Amino acid sequence: MTHATQGRQLRPSGKLLQEDARRHHRALLLQRLFRDGAASRADLARTTGLTRVTVSDLIAELMTEGLVTELGAPAEARVGKPPMLVGIANQAAHVVALDLSPDDRVSGALVDLSGTVVTRDDRPLDSRVGADATALVRSLVDDLVAAATVPVLGVGIGSPGVVDALGAVLEAPNLGWEAEPLAADLGERTGLPVHVANDANAAALGEHTFGGAEGGGLMVLRVGTGVGAGLILEGTLLHGHRAAAGEIGHVVVDPSGQPCACGRRGCLETLLAVPHLRRRLAEAESDARRERRVLESTGRRLGAALAPVVATLNLHELVLSGPPELLDGPLRSAVETTIHARTMPVTADELRVRTSTLGDDVVLAGATVLVLAGVLGVS
Ligand SMILES: [Zn+2]
Repeated sequence: MTHATQGRQLRPSGKLLQEDARRHHRALLLQRLFRDGAASRADLARTTGLTRVTVSDLIAELMTEGLVTELGAPAEARVGKPPMLVGIANQAAHVVALDLSPDDRVSGALVDLSGTVVTRDDRPLDSRVGADATALVRSLVDDLVAAATVPVLGVGIGSPGVVDALGAVLEAPNLGWEAEPLAADLGERTGLPVHVANDANAAALGEHTFGGAEGGGLMVLRVGTGVGAGLILEGTLLHGHRAAAGEIGHVVVDPSGQPCACGRRGCLETLLAVPHLRRRLAEAESDARRERRVLESTGRRLGAALAPVVATLNLHELVLSGPPELLDGPLRSAVETTIHARTMPVTADELRVRTSTLGDDVVLAGATVLVLAGVLGVS
């Protein structure tokens, strides 16, 4: 940080303060329209506390940019001149969203401002790692940007591994990446804002914004080739001291369990990661009662591992994200029962344990939120 920048932050001039305030008010209006839907200018002034003049001025600016549009008058208006509603123009811009979490492909999409996928593009990974994997991601981003028929707001990416605040992927063994400067590389290439997050963190953002999360603390547990979690507390994604918050997959839950790729024994992943769980179900030889016992015992172990976390953070929702045929049933029930048995009523009474409503698109949804939050200030 240069001295000049520091000085600016410490002693902002009147002009900069005005610009800051304008940007803040603009984000406030967008957030209000984004979360609660269309509203009249008078309603916006009332619910945001901004003056009518400020609201009209900013809405005019957002309409010029195409982000906001007039939607007509509400049907229920009966007396006098009906107020004109304004709302987000969902089709006015697209986000390029990527999900790099599947172990066999890179998934991309153009997503509109309502979180709806407009175009999909998947490329097989074919065991590419390192620079070859990066090249595949670059070509997918290039093609999606080229396919957009409206302006692209930015590029959002959910990647496996630990991702730092600058959007570098510090370590993703499956892609052979170490300190891969993904955001900087793609930003320079496309000229667009690029936001990268760990896939479980992206999933948590997707669930929070587009998956019907109810507010209060949220944990999204991603169960795939690995196991990881994303946490949203007080409306904010939790990063942790070294950007590794939610890395629960290699916590030992059974010291005498199976050896794990990390060198320990009995990590949560050795029980719960999809390949391990499928293998243990296959050992039940299609005996429905034995299969049920495998899912229940896995759910009990998972519940025991999560109960202290749920209690410590007083979470409201625990969302299991992964194959529903594995997660939604005896496993989910056992997680819920175990957490209830191991925590106080104040912890468990209002806890919701459910599966994701967004299915396989949860990371794409979260990648979209990264851009909406980073560029428009809404989430
Ligand atoms: Zn491990």
